[in-house]
Amino acid sequence: MDIRVNFSGRAIRYTEEEIAVVAEAMRTADPLTQGEYMRAFERKFAVYQGVPEGTCFTTMNGCAALEMSAQLCRFRPGDEVVIPSHTFTASAYPYLKKGARLVWADIDPVSRVVTAESIEPLITPRTKAVVVVHLYGYVADMPAIMALCEERGLICIEDAAQAIGAEVEGQKAGSFGHMGIFSFHSHKNLTTLGEGGMLYVKDPDLAAIIPALRHNGHCAYSFERADYWKPAMGNVDVPMLGNEMLMPSNYCLGEVECALGAKLLDRIDDINDEKRRRALRFIDALDDCSELEFHRVDSRRHNYHLLAARITAGPAMRDAFMRAMYEKKGIKCVVQYIPLDRYDFYRRHGLDTASCPHADAFFDSMVSFPFQHWLSEDDFEYMLVSTREVLADLR
Ligand SMILES: *Cc1c(COP(=O)(O)O)cnc(C)c1O
Repeated sequence: MDIRVNFSGRAIRYTEEEIAVVAEAMRTADPLTQGEYMRAFERKFAVYQGVPEGTCFTTMNGCAALEMSAQLCRFRPGDEVVIPSHTFTASAYPYLKKGARLVWADIDPVSRVVTAESIEPLITPRTKAVVVVHLYGYVADMPAIMALCEERGLICIEDAAQAIGAEVEGQKAGSFGHMGIFSFHSHKNLTTLGEGGMLYVKDPDLAAIIPALRHNGHCAYSFERADYWKPAMGNVDVPMLGNEMLMPSNYCLGEVECALGAKLLDRIDDINDEKRRRALRFIDALDDCSELEFHRVDSRRHNYHLLAARITAGPAMRDAFMRAMYEKKGIKCVVQYIPLDRYDFYRRHGLDTASCPHADAFFDSMVSFPFQHWLSEDDFEYMLVSTREVLADLR
């Protein structure tokens, strides 16, 4: 059977107005990177997040933002980072790369994200930071997790790659922690032509070095110059934190992407609300199907970036369900976020031990439905009816 409903690699379609903004930036931006569009996007993003101006920095993707956040932690040998095992690999390896040892935290079986209770027992005198991932678009209990991190003197980083616009108690995901990261990858609810990201840094002293850290160590001379071309057009120096020298990179996002990102901020709440309304329709219409267990959240705490469910009868039934959906109905569901301790990459780094029974059980029986924003009403209804039929056949 041909695929009728694919799990698309693209989350949204652009409006003609958004395409016009891109065309305009293509015509007029000078330079094509590190210019007015970038500064405007960063300012507008800070306003959207409810955080001070000068704390949000565009990056070429979420991973680059994570890597800078890891760099700002300044790990010493032996330092540990508590991080969920049930997440995308880019949440984790930047911290390993910058010298930390990863300690896997379990998820809550209902919300599928970490909690203060799952993090707390893993904290040791060596713990330096905690990474909280708002997976699927649901915001973890940040007030409780921040209280724990403050009490124990830990750096908290929110991976809000999937959770733009989601909020707890009126406060946006990614604005609670000491740092927050966002992704504008092709899959995400806000995508800047496939790649893009944002780093939020709360501490003004850390924020001050991000422009140089992000852009090759470029900075201004600290003295008045008689000629603008001497000693060179601009200086290159080492981004310093106290007396520590940091290595720069080039993680900048282009002007065209920034122009589009700023424009999409006008529509992100609508995109999220539309996805949530649809998710709730799907969940409620299948309420009598005890084989499927969704995480139902009727508030902006969930943006339903993804529509994931657990098949209550377990892995064999999950596989039978996915096979029938694919082979009989042409609907391509996927499984997501194998616990990272099972990947060869982490095993080879000696990170193959985790005590995360909920993450393991969830992954082994989970299914993620195609849920791109532009899924047609026909295809959505077809997926709903097909899900019912396949479950009835399997009973
Ligand atoms: C997409 C994603 C990332 C990485 O973002 P990129 O922009 O692709 O580098 C990190 N963490 C999570 C949870 C993600 O979903």
